[in-house]
Amino acid sequence: MALVYADLHIHIGKTKRGTPVKIPASPALTLETIVKTAQLKGLQMVGIADAACSGVLADLEALLDRGTIEPVTGGGYRWGQITLLLGSEVEIGHDGGKEAHFLGFFPNLAAVQDYAAWIGPAVTNAALSTQRLKADGNTWLQAVAACGGVAVAAHAFTPHKGVYGSCVRRLGEMFACPEQFAALELGLSADTAMAQTIADTHRYAYLANSDAHSPASIGREFTVYELPEISFRAWRNALRNRGQGIAALHGMTPLLGRYHRSFCASCGVLAAEPRAVLSCPHCGRRMITGVWDRVHQIADSSEQAPDRPPYKAHVPLAMLPGIGPATCTKLLQEVGPELDILYHAPLEEIRRGGGLRAAASIHRFRTGQLTLHPGGGGKYGKVT
Ligand SMILES: [Zn+2]
Ligand SMILES: [Zn+2]
Repeated sequence: MALVYADLHIHIGKTKRGTPVKIPASPALTLETIVKTAQLKGLQMVGIADAACSGVLADLEALLDRGTIEPVTGGGYRWGQITLLLGSEVEIGHDGGKEAHFLGFFPNLAAVQDYAAWIGPAVTNAALSTQRLKADGNTWLQAVAACGGVAVAAHAFTPHKGVYGSCVRRLGEMFACPEQFAALELGLSADTAMAQTIADTHRYAYLANSDAHSPASIGREFTVYELPEISFRAWRNALRNRGQGIAALHGMTPLLGRYHRSFCASCGVLAAEPRAVLSCPHCGRRMITGVWDRVHQIADSSEQAPDRPPYKAHVPLAMLPGIGPATCTKLLQEVGPELDILYHAPLEEIRRGGGLRAAASIHRFRTGQLTLHPGGGGKYGKVT
């Protein structure tokens, strides 16, 4: 058994030929940068959320032909020390103009091709990421299963396109066979304790992934699996029984997420009350719902399963005061993976790699001297 650090929700900005894939994502996010960055961040497995987009699929096939990536027995592809899992994010509509995102993961390129052939006629532009499906949830789930895939609800609690966040209280409202889902992704603004207050989630494994739209955000959330081998098959087995092969989730402190609490765009007010707030206490208008507020609105369980893997919250290095993007890269290159820098590396080593301010900031983080301000309305929380 080996501990495998994995971030399975990473978007592609553009293909090798320079055509865009995920429009709001950084063009620096190519397959090559993802693999390099993942290695720098101490990950062993990454999931590509746009593998079924036509240009990305062509890139992957070319990499396979050249021998840059090699198929793994049991599914997935090895690129140097990194194992790639191939996934595809879609948007599925629900009653009343709501919609949510879902991820399918597939064992190999042949399966992704089958799935892409199925999805092609159901989307407007097969080259682009996270397309809106002209099909319902049941049809999508069937297609994923028929192609040997694994279905995951993406950023499940986000009021912006998360299934519990914006569509339903139970997956059964949207899917005839909700038991076909293997896992839920918690998203940046939620953690295990929050998810468990919703009884419908109890049967699923929970995952932490970054949903990276830039190289810098790769690995800001990740899951540690305990696997007999690094492959798609081993990963799929790890999700069974609510995540029997998951050792821990590492995520951002939910408070710092962009949609943690409700926010009134008219008054600029962030909810602070210890209850779900949906309309503005000042002007009465509807607020941009926070994840915390939505979860409290639909919470129906006080059971916290003791056998769930622990959720370990951290503050991403890049959010600490005095640590800019350049310092961040330097620290990662010279000191080590993010969690080592945050928790273990000697301060002297951090000072040498990132300067006095960075060392002081990490010291304050380790000794609990930093104040965290919640995020909301699309703005990340702040650390001072
Ligand atoms: Zn999404
Ligand atoms: Zn207001």
